[in-house]
Amino acid sequence: MTQLATEQTIWDKNESLPREELQALQAKRLKQAVARVYQNVPFYTANLNALGLTADDINAIDDVRKLPFTVKTDLRDNYPLDLLAVPRDQLARLHASSGTTGKPTFAVFTQEDLDTWSDLCARFLYAGGLRKNQFAHVAFGYGLFTGGFGLHYGIERVGAGVIPAASGNTRRQIALLRDLNTETLICTPSYALNIAEVAREEGLDPATDLPIKFGHFGGEPWTEDMRVAIEAELGITAFNNYGLSEVLGPGVAGECPCRNGMHLQEDHFLFELVDPQTDEPVKPGEIGELIITNLTKQATTLLRYRTRDLCVIHEEPCDCGRTTRRMGRVIGRSDDMMIIRGVNVFPSQIEEALLSVEGTTPHYMIELDRPGNLDQVTVSVEIQPHMFSDKMTEMNMLKRAIDKEIRTITGIGVTLNLVQPQTLARFEGKAKRVIDNRFAPGSMEK
Ligand SMILES: [Zn+2]
Repeated sequence: MTQLATEQTIWDKNESLPREELQALQAKRLKQAVARVYQNVPFYTANLNALGLTADDINAIDDVRKLPFTVKTDLRDNYPLDLLAVPRDQLARLHASSGTTGKPTFAVFTQEDLDTWSDLCARFLYAGGLRKNQFAHVAFGYGLFTGGFGLHYGIERVGAGVIPAASGNTRRQIALLRDLNTETLICTPSYALNIAEVAREEGLDPATDLPIKFGHFGGEPWTEDMRVAIEAELGITAFNNYGLSEVLGPGVAGECPCRNGMHLQEDHFLFELVDPQTDEPVKPGEIGELIITNLTKQATTLLRYRTRDLCVIHEEPCDCGRTTRRMGRVIGRSDDMMIIRGVNVFPSQIEEALLSVEGTTPHYMIELDRPGNLDQVTVSVEIQPHMFSDKMTEMNMLKRAIDKEIRTITGIGVTLNLVQPQTLARFEGKAKRVIDNRFAPGSMEK
């Protein structure tokens, strides 16, 4: 990106340490982290003992592979606070995961953790254009969700002015953005498109009538095509960032001006990429499940947390000067993976296919059914008003083009349902685009 390319965008010297120095720091912090949980967290004491390990067995980065994985159900089993690595009176703040299935899991912070968190968010915000003399508008939910507060304190750490708009009332959000001449927008990528759409309904051209220059989007997976759509709609430069409340919240990784992957904050986390089936490390460039070990978090320190997020890691140096490796977009969650007629398919692949065809919009729903014994997929997508035609031939041509793309990318055929603009559900938080009726009560199959 030309405007930022000539500027110094590195917030912290740890982002550009020589690799050997970074790895020495990681090894030292890993040893401390394992010692911390071995001493203070009965769950880890028992798990390490069961493997015949103590903290003394962990001396180098590769020793991480001796350690057991931690999975989401371990967090639920230790609800609410059995994984604490510090006395309860040292906690400064508690957040929780959204808990869409089962109990929520807590994300807990000491004051030192909150300082680290602010710094890690400041790193990617600063890399993506935020400066002291600007405003940033946070349209993430506040409350227990880590997104709102994490970014909020990151903005304050940079020294910029924060507008904690939270979610809801999109018209008021648009008015705030315009009245305050706000430079940076922070929300989910689907909400950014929602803002553009509501602005259009108000008779505005979102690309020119909204003041935003930069967007930082996260909280749900999105595609490169969606970035192109958002940038064109809002007339901004859009950045991707990554985080999860189990190990921190936002701030685990974020893009630099080169936007060729999200720089992993390797001084605070140890990252591995494994084959979700075999648990072995994948070869360079291959897709694997991201495994994260907390190196510095005091309140809870998770060892080898299985994120279920699938991505690639880029090892080659980045032009920005940071020396950290970079993760590619999350292409799916091993949980979200839809197994359709034996084929692994991700909602993000369907989205990629839809957006590569002229005339579609990023508003879609995927419905899975199993009449008889065969999986059936119905994809409904809103098409642009000028494409909506009474002539069957034009609609059929569009359908064929979309169908071909979906087959090419996913290897499966679907039933397509082209619908009028504004007919599908809109989302302010995480988009829920898959309805799986195959295993619903009352369905024929179990
Ligand atoms: Zn970079």
